[in-house]
Amino acid sequence: MKYCRNCRIFYSSQAAACPKCGVSYEAAKANEIAEGEADKRRVRRDWIWLAVGIPLFIGLIYLLIKLFDMIG
Ligand SMILES: [Zn+2]
Repeated sequence: MKYCRNCRIFYSSQAAACPKCGVSYEAAKANEIAEGEADKRRVRRDWIWLAVGIPLFIGLIYLLIKLFDMIG
């Protein structure tokens, strides 16, 4: 049995492509893998931003405190 995510139907594993929309199982699977890779890349980018952003934020607050210290 193969499954078409486009039509959300099961179809014969003998069929090369979905009988309803014509998308082949292999093409759909390849697309899914590509999407998963893009997702992983996005998650990694988010982590990099977090790793850079938090120290930057702390540094900024520290700088502000120093600045107020100088004024006061
Ligand atoms: Zn289909």
